Amino acid sequence: ATPTALLAGSLRGSQLGILIRGPEALEEAHRIQVIALDKTGTITAGQMSLDSVVPAPGADADEVLKLAATLESASEHPIARAIVKASHATTEQLEDFSNIPGRGVRARVHGRPAAAGNAALMSDQGWAIPDELSQAAADAAKRGASTVFVGRAGTVTGLVAVTDKIDPNAAAAVGALHELGLRTVMVTGDNQAAAEYVAAQVGLDGVRADVLPGDKFNVVTELQAGGTVPVAMVGDGVNDAAALSQADLGIAMGSGTDAAIAASDLTLMRHDLMLAVDAIRLSRRTLNTIR
Ligand code: ADP
Ligand code: MG
Repeated sequence: ATPTALLAGSLRGSQLGILIRGPEALEEAHRIQVIALDKTGTITAGQMSLDSVVPAPGADADEVLKLAATLESASEHPIARAIVKASHATTEQLEDFSNIPGRGVRARVHGRPAAAGNAALMSDQGWAIPDELSQAAADAAKRGASTVFVGRAGTVTGLVAVTDKIDPNAAAAVGALHELGLRTVMVTGDNQAAAEYVAAQVGLDGVRADVLPGDKFNVVTELQAGGTVPVAMVGDGVNDAAALSQADLGIAMGSGTDAAIAASDLTLMRHDLMLAVDAIRLSRRTLNTIR
């Protein structure tokens, strides 16, 4: 590839809304065989809203939402923002707040331990989830919702479910990636059922769900199969950064975190997965014309 052709390719990219870090990025892009995609904020808009609140038998829905909002008021997670926005109650004082990546949040409220997060977080603490809530969570996940159990002092008092909108162009983009001969795989920390729902909506080839934040990197390494398969990763979160830099081609959503953008070779300037397709097409055109 001549420097002139690569420069022309980069300029064309910026006109399309794709920021290309350096000439090597286009050379990498034309080799890619597998593309891994984060779910929340990449395939979906990352702007979640409240789906439902389900109290445990004998508990009160308003109290469940209030406790969830209290705990989540100290978190920046898209799930947390949706819960805080949905609650109109005044939040209570938090002590000893901690964020448990890939699980949820924990703190003391009125001196007693309280937590909001997934089933793994509840079981870590030895807090039993009533069957009614497990069932409600399974039902919500089948609709693509992310589910948060809420509890205090050893008792799980309810469930809050939130949903996100799928990028309207995601299905067309996945179809176009398949036409280009790429394999598509979702990599997400969210639960299996919600991940599968979204993957089916957009037609992805594979799903890796319940992936802990530190493990997205390992999934990319596995997909690379000992360096024999060139893999791209598309993501937006702090928890995607290591995977984005491990990938042969890291692609950040421009709406994403600074960490994701800094770790990537390309940045998509609009929340539109079709730009990832444009980037692969552009790289192929650029490298084919100059050989
Ligand atoms: P991803 O960005 O891939 O969707 P994360 O690693 O951020 O995943 O989160 C994975 C899962 O951990 C979430 O789907 C949720 O179940 C749980 N979780 C993480 N942070 C929070 C939080 N602040 N409140 C509740 N649950 C959370
Ligand atoms: Mg994300």
